[in-house]
Amino acid sequence: MKKIYDCVVIGAGVAGMTAAIYLKRANIDFILLEKGVPGGQINKSSNIENYPGFKKVDGPTLAFNIYEQIEKLGVDYKYGDVKEVRDSENYKVVCTDKEEFVTKTVIIATGRRPRELGLANEKKLLGSGISYCAYCDGMLYKNKDVIIIGGGNSALEEALYIADIANKVYIVHRSSEYRADQFLIDKVNKKENIIKYFNKEVIDILEQDDRFSGVKLNDESVINADGLFIYIGQIPETNFIDNIKTTEDGYIITDSHLKTSDDKIYACGDVLKKDLYQIATSIGEGALAASNIIKILK
Ligand SMILES: Cc1cc2nc3c(=O)[nH]c(=O)nc-3n(C[C@H](O)[C@H](O)[C@H](O)COP(=O)(O)OP(=O)(O)OC[C@H]3O[C@@H](n4cnc5c(N)ncnc54)[C@H](O)[C@@H]3O)c2cc1C
Repeated sequence: MKKIYDCVVIGAGVAGMTAAIYLKRANIDFILLEKGVPGGQINKSSNIENYPGFKKVDGPTLAFNIYEQIEKLGVDYKYGDVKEVRDSENYKVVCTDKEEFVTKTVIIATGRRPRELGLANEKKLLGSGISYCAYCDGMLYKNKDVIIIGGGNSALEEALYIADIANKVYIVHRSSEYRADQFLIDKVNKKENIIKYFNKEVIDILEQDDRFSGVKLNDESVINADGLFIYIGQIPETNFIDNIKTTEDGYIITDSHLKTSDDKIYACGDVLKKDLYQIATSIGEGALAASNIIKILK
């Protein structure tokens, strides 16, 4: 007979790993499934200055610290790309591309992924001059010119990071002002090699010899560059669920206990519809979802 878990946690970002710490310490029999690397989005952040306890830390270091903590606790962690969560009698079945896990409860902590521009050759040039992570790929552009699209915190934070590596950084933003923290805007304004374009949209991605070579803007002008980093927002990772309540744009709706419209499924972190998408909120929700799951299991 197939093993029945108390809980399956889907996603090992900061929310999922925090839930795992709480579940493990309460002696719950569960497995944590992750389709990428532990840490999720924080791996893309070069500089975190608003997470209490660390005056300044880079994302991968924070991710590794939390991962080490769950490893030391002996959390059952496995690679798995979850494709479906379905009902089977009184249980839930979590299906990855390779296996199925039968469980009494589920915590969804699958976060968000970068929104794409949706232009013709964007997918083709990913890894050939186009990236969604300056911190991961920035070093490839030492002394070269890069374009950042976006005007939020992530766009400015990563523009500042890459400005210390690249020759010139062009920030293209479609509005007349940034939607970012003032301290980031001030830092960007002080950087001499950051060139700002407001009220401009990219309408075409240009390529040469199968590599990104520049962008065409809506006023028909062209910016030539070696790299393009896209930060135009995020979308929730909820493709694999069709039986719980979400907003129109796919965010999971929960009550204040983080219970979804299904009594046996809880959710936490950036996958939720909420006001603030940050490490501190996601970690708090991971703890809350797990402690409420512990209550219903016991
Ligand atoms: C560039 C950047 C800079 C940032 N800077 C800051 C900052 O300075 N301070 C701050 O507080 N916040 C910052 N944030 C926001 C912060 O990183 C997020 O709010 C937080 O990491 C969200 O954590 P999470 O665990 O909810 O989701 P995620 O980090 O998105 O983790 C979700 C995990 O689930 C996995 N997953 C998704 N779908 C599946 C599936 N079907 N099967 C299995 N696994 C799946 C993903 O691979 C991922 O690892 C930044 C974000 C970015 C992108």
